[in-house]
Amino acid sequence: NLALRQDAPAPLRAADFRSDVDPIWCPGCGHHALLLAVTTALAELGVAHENVAFVSGIGCSSRIPAYTNVYGFHGVHGRALPTATGVKLARPDLTVIAAGGDGDGLSIGGNHFTHACRRNVDMTYIVMDNQVYGMTKGQASPTTSADWSGSKLTPHGTGISPVEPARLALVAGANFIARGFSGQPKEVAKLIVAAVRHPGFSFVHVLSPCVTYRKEQREWKHAVHPSLDAAPPSRMDEAMHRLADDDGFTTGILFSGDRPAFAPDRQQRMAIGSFDAQFAA
Ligand code: SF4
Ligand code: MG
Repeated sequence: NLALRQDAPAPLRAADFRSDVDPIWCPGCGHHALLLAVTTALAELGVAHENVAFVSGIGCSSRIPAYTNVYGFHGVHGRALPTATGVKLARPDLTVIAAGGDGDGLSIGGNHFTHACRRNVDMTYIVMDNQVYGMTKGQASPTTSADWSGSKLTPHGTGISPVEPARLALVAGANFIARGFSGQPKEVAKLIVAAVRHPGFSFVHVLSPCVTYRKEQREWKHAVHPSLDAAPPSRMDEAMHRLADDDGFTTGILFSGDRPAFAPDRQQRMAIGSFDAQFAA
């Protein structure tokens, strides 16, 4: 009946979660589509704007909270995860999402990443990986392949094995691991929804091309392929086995664990509070 339909709240749309700030990312940057994936996911989750905290560090990708209209915190380089952890511990009722790039998350913030995985606080972390430091004009990052010679600083490549974020997350203890490609924003939105709904620390690795310093990444659209698993691995050894053979372009949920999320008791909260007091002094 029409009256009932008029009374029912209208379903949320991705546009309802966009701010009026225009992204300053380069035209064609993968992050534009990732922003659409994030806002689509928030609409699908049906969360109230004031109940979401979106935290980032520094870098091209870390600008993303400003382009949404949920509560955002654009923090210090590599420190999105400790900030997000603090927010979640202080306000367990909030949906906490952190995001940033491969340099911010896996080099400057690499230490925080491994500890966030093992702590298993109930939040979601999105790494927007383009295997380069885009904001500082194209240096090799921790996920850059050893032979990439596109930067004047590393004309013969770095010669260093790159970090594979999903493998690192798995061994460090993340409770949910997924990989997507920003050129497939609907699929990435589904992964983000599943990550937010999964208890504990959920990691979403998104391949998001830098079209300015890594033009060849435009070809990633031909490299990605969905996982053929009927159901994501729930056992760590099973997921490890899959990831050992993975080419880095498998998309989908790569691990879905059942470790209980970290739920601090009163004493643990007081300990965290006393740490805060020490840092504030
Ligand atoms: Fe995107 Fe690269 Fe431009 Fe940064 S430099 S906005 S990552 S295309
Ligand atoms: Mg990067």
